[in-house]
Amino acid sequence: MTRVRFAPSPTGFLHIGNLRPALINWLFALKQGGEFVLRFDDTDPERSRTEYAEAAKQDLSWIGIEPHLVRYQSERTALYDAARGRLIDMGRLYPCYETAEELDRRRKRARALGKPPIYDRAALNLSDAERAAFEAEGRKPHWRFKLDGRAITFTDLVRGESHVNTATQSDPVLIREDGSYLYTLPSVVDDIDMGITHVIRGEDHVTNTGAQIELIEALGGTVPVFAHHNLLSDAEGHGLSKRHGALSLGDLRGAGYEAMAVAIMAVLTGTSEAVAPHADLDALAEVFDLSKVSRAPARFDPSELDALNARLLHTTPYAAVQNRLEVMGISDAEALWLAARENISKLSDIEDWHRIVTGPVEPVIADEDRGFLNEARDLLPPEPWDGDTWKAWTGTLKDQTGRKGRGLFLPLRLALTGRPDGPELRSLLPVLGRKACLDRLS
Ligand code: GLU
Repeated sequence: MTRVRFAPSPTGFLHIGNLRPALINWLFALKQGGEFVLRFDDTDPERSRTEYAEAAKQDLSWIGIEPHLVRYQSERTALYDAARGRLIDMGRLYPCYETAEELDRRRKRARALGKPPIYDRAALNLSDAERAAFEAEGRKPHWRFKLDGRAITFTDLVRGESHVNTATQSDPVLIREDGSYLYTLPSVVDDIDMGITHVIRGEDHVTNTGAQIELIEALGGTVPVFAHHNLLSDAEGHGLSKRHGALSLGDLRGAGYEAMAVAIMAVLTGTSEAVAPHADLDALAEVFDLSKVSRAPARFDPSELDALNARLLHTTPYAAVQNRLEVMGISDAEALWLAARENISKLSDIEDWHRIVTGPVEPVIADEDRGFLNEARDLLPPEPWDGDTWKAWTGTLKDQTGRKGRGLFLPLRLALTGRPDGPELRSLLPVLGRKACLDRLS
């Protein structure tokens, strides 16, 4: 069974750039009939906040992502401790006592000598007495994973055949001085424990994949399939960071964007599939494929989101918005919706048209049109009205008055709606009804 995971660290609100891996995983699971795990990477007690985790669940649910399983790494320490013990027994995890300043000095020295700034494994050669001396000084060790240092090859579902040579990397630190776990060990232990079959994430993790494969193998796990997608960036090519407040999912929702518009932008930007309306996540899953993800950065253009939001609404059926309209106090409004949906770019714009239909409206009537509008009022057909009423009415008016085109239609629109533009009057007329039309034409 396919099982994927989205593993955000709850250190800020999710933004559209974080939504990209979340949704790509979700669509992948959807298409394969698999499962999606939401796994909070909250092992850093300093920076992780429950509020952010709660907000992330709500944001994902707004988009339509309902995880099969939610897990918090902060509650799974026993598993990581067990792995830690096994790695120490195998001689793959070793204590280091260097301070950050010492490491920094060594890196600078290596660079000055034209050598790669790789950790020199000095701590591996410490004697028991030297270790004891450090401990007596009050130093606490951090722990590094001893890499094999080899060429690792994997087939990435986005990037194809990929190579990472761990011989060119420092042994990664898995455990901090205070005993807390950095991202790598919990992530690998959980991927094994949860039976994750596909690790789909941003391409900023490609270089981590080598050490992670080594760690998975050391712990006797099955190496999953990897896929690393391009990251959403702004117009200048800068990554969208968590602090990019205006693009947080909560803000986008508050600004009245459709969840589907946000979802489509998050997924299809930077792929060979055009950004276009899709009714729901199932439809989006149909057109999306990892093989369509581009290698170039995915540039997110907020004006494209605006345009897509409008395009989506223009074809949205009434049933899909009925509940939300009712919350806005607009009920029984199918005819209004169908008449006005092509004139809105955010759902809340429908309120203007609702007000124009229900009134009061200040009709705009020029002196020279008064006679014409009186005639128009007298020629209003009897109800019931339908989609043909407008044509019949204005046809008669044209014959009677000789007016045509703009001279015929604009005064009617201004009198009936108080505005020079808007939905087709053909559809709007039956929504207005005869009584409102009589009043406004008078
Ligand atoms: N917390 C990591 C991140 O958000 C997870 C990376 C991964 O998917 O392995 O980048």
